[in-house]
Amino acid sequence: MATPTPRPKFLDGGPKKMLIGGEWVPAASGKTFATIDPATEQKLADVCEGDKDDVDRAVVAARRAFESGPWSKMSASERGQIVWRIGDLIEKNKDELALLDTLDNGKPIFETTYVDTVLAADIFRYYGGFATKIHGETIPVAGSFLNYTLREPVGVCGQIIPWNFPLLMASWKLAPALGAGNCVVLKPAEQTPLSALRLAELCLEAGVPPGVVNVIPGFGPTAGAAVARHRGIDKVAFTGSTEVGKIVMREAAENCKKVSLELGGKSPNIILQDADIDAALKGVMMGMFFNQGEVCCAGSRLFVHKSIKDEFVGKLAEHAKKLKVGNPLDPETRMGAQVSEEQYDRILGFIKAGKEQGAKALCGGDSARATAGGGKGYFIQPTVFDGVNDGMKIAREEIFGPVIAALPFDDLDEIVARANDTPYGLAAGVWTKDIDKAHYLARKVKAGTIWVNCYNQFDAASPFGGFKESGFGREMGIHALELYTQVKSVWVRVRPQGK
Ligand code: NAP
Ligand code: MG
Repeated sequence: MATPTPRPKFLDGGPKKMLIGGEWVPAASGKTFATIDPATEQKLADVCEGDKDDVDRAVVAARRAFESGPWSKMSASERGQIVWRIGDLIEKNKDELALLDTLDNGKPIFETTYVDTVLAADIFRYYGGFATKIHGETIPVAGSFLNYTLREPVGVCGQIIPWNFPLLMASWKLAPALGAGNCVVLKPAEQTPLSALRLAELCLEAGVPPGVVNVIPGFGPTAGAAVARHRGIDKVAFTGSTEVGKIVMREAAENCKKVSLELGGKSPNIILQDADIDAALKGVMMGMFFNQGEVCCAGSRLFVHKSIKDEFVGKLAEHAKKLKVGNPLDPETRMGAQVSEEQYDRILGFIKAGKEQGAKALCGGDSARATAGGGKGYFIQPTVFDGVNDGMKIAREEIFGPVIAALPFDDLDEIVARANDTPYGLAAGVWTKDIDKAHYLARKVKAGTIWVNCYNQFDAASPFGGFKESGFGREMGIHALELYTQVKSVWVRVRPQGK
């Protein structure tokens, strides 16, 4: 690899500790695990491995901070300023955070610099601003009563996040929880714990009091499960696979925790006959290959009107062949390494299944380890499959890699039925110049987000989340405050009017 690997100072000084009650501490068990750079397969750092005992300690600290610490006594304005300041500190430390995520996850530095860190800073400012705008209502009830509501924080929130956008997922979770006045126990993914730990340092630097943010790196079935089932946690928010989301929901039943789930997808990207082809090609490329396809809302089912399917898919394959796959630290790279060997093998397994079931790879269809990584790293070629039918494994299951399945369609109602023929419902794309068809599909397709003549647009102010088995609860926007607050109704007897 041409570009030398820079090493952030954050990685020096022995195993990375966990944050409990404002202190950086080792795991109660003394155990650590290694986190690796998937582009080089080299170890980046050892990280303390949290388990049930550490989650217990973190919950005690969070409960104390919530019930009697300075956080709950603070004015909304003071709290909002602290949350805003986290956003400022992310911006100030953007290059370091971008580098940490690129090293830990394998995603291009171009993306971590211009997308992940920017959106992460923005969401803290959005919910920092909201802290002073969360309020109850007065209700015109019958009788001589004043009835009003208080909108209160939920309490101690457990948050379990995946590895595909490490800093951004931590930010989507922490920012609304803190803006609404909660305390948090966050469990990052074992593959990518580093940026969440650095973000926790920034939270302390911004003035977040001890115990309000606790970060416990560790494994899902141990640390993650302890968070999901803990009786001292009032709410659990989970992003990851549908399979694990179901487990989290079951575990959360132990004490009737509030649950929100942001799960997998197999999103349709629909190209109508009259679409602007060049714009649609760019949108399909970005919708599929952004972040190596490791995106829950990736537009992995490409439905193209049969009259333009061959031309469109042929051009798509040409574009995909030109995509620069390689060293994630090179600013020109547009596709880096998949996050782990497990994920790399899994994706190659899907590609193999596609071929075995009779689909044709117009480009890609193999590892890119030799060409993109000089023999190392979990690189995969961007792959465009043609000759796919709706029943094939590559058309039905979430691959979470750079593999797109092209499917022709004929008419509008057929496409509605086929787009909706999936257990998922996270997002969908529609490409057309016909405003009537665009809005028709926006209503008929069952998904939490519909992008018309665009794809992968995000804003802290706009809600994001799933229909069906893609989960429930909306992150971002005013809607996320529903997840992190609860309503109390207060009745006060007053003197009847005229007495
Ligand atoms: P995953 O297992 O669902 O991981 C997501 C998070 O849940 C991680 O922090 C994980 O911990 C934790 N976890 C795992 N088992 C748990 C349990 N029993 N109780 C509580 N927490 C648990 O996802 P993955 O294995 O990393 O990826 C597998 C597939 O999930 C992907 O191929 C993709 O299809 C899907 N996925 C979807 C999203 C999304 O944004 N919707 C994100 C990532 C993955 P550890 O990782 O530390 O074990
Ligand atoms: Mg996992």
